[in-house]
Amino acid sequence: MSTKLKKCPYGEQCYRKNPIHFGEFSHPHLDKIYLNGLDPETNNYVIPDELFMSAELIEIQLKLLEKLFPKSGDITGSSSTSSKTKEVDKSRGSGRLDGG
Ligand SMILES: [Zn+2]
Repeated sequence: MSTKLKKCPYGEQCYRKNPIHFGEFSHPHLDKIYLNGLDPETNNYVIPDELFMSAELIEIQLKLLEKLFPKSGDITGSSSTSSKTKEVDKSRGSGRLDGG
């Protein structure tokens, strides 16, 4: 699907805000939050307790991910089910031929 990035050596301790860095290295802890999506109640990303200390930083980093790896939100695949009713013409009587 996509190119595999090197894991960032800093991992969860990564404090960088450089988009290029996020294009070059993967941050599984951010990916996880990013893929989880927004909390429908708060409309914010759900940051796990263990990362809550750096929640502000993570939100900034998530914004970078949004720009670098935009989710395909435009899914306009409307399944239009057009039901064609075929009318069977019964009025025509078929000529029977009894061949003996
Ligand atoms: Zn990093």
